[in-house]
Amino acid sequence: MRCPFCGGEETQVKDSRPTEDNTAIRRRRVCSTCGGRFTTFERVQLRELMVVKRSGRRVPFDREKLMRSVEIAVRKRPVDPERIERMVSGIVRQLESTSEGEITSEMIGTHVMEGLKTIDDVAYVRFASVYRNFREARDFRELLGELGGLPGNDEPQEDA
Ligand SMILES: [Zn+2]
Repeated sequence: MRCPFCGGEETQVKDSRPTEDNTAIRRRRVCSTCGGRFTTFERVQLRELMVVKRSGRRVPFDREKLMRSVEIAVRKRPVDPERIERMVSGIVRQLESTSEGEITSEMIGTHVMEGLKTIDDVAYVRFASVYRNFREARDFRELLGELGGLPGNDEPQEDA
C-alpha cells in the first residue's frame, strides 16, 4: 500500500480490527519512509459495479466518492460516523444485488436520500438539494413540506 503522503511503498500495519458492524477490517498504517499515518479498509466486494452516467459513459463505482458526498451532507451534524458507515455499506449491498451490475447516479442518490431521511433531516435536505435537480423552486418547497418544515439555521449551534 503506497503512502499517500510521500508515495513510499514500505508501510507497516500498526493496528488491525473489524469495524463495529463487522463488515470491514480497519488497518492503521505507518509509512516507513516519512512516518505518515493513514487508515485503510478491507471490504467484501460481491461484484464489480459500473455507474452509467447520463451521457451513457460507464465508470467504476467508487465507494469513497459516495462516502465523501454523504460526509459533506452530515458535516457538523450530530450523527454517529458508524451509523453513516453502516448506511453506506447497506446501500452498496443493495446496489450490488441489482441484476445487471450496472447502476445509475439516480439509483445511488435515491438510496442515500432514503437512508439519510431516517438519520438526519438537515443532512437529507443538503444531500437532496445537491442530488435532485431542482429546476423549479417549487420542488424544494415540496421537499421541505415532506419534512414538515424548514430545517433551521445551517450554522451549527455547537460542535457535535
Ligand atoms: Zn510516506
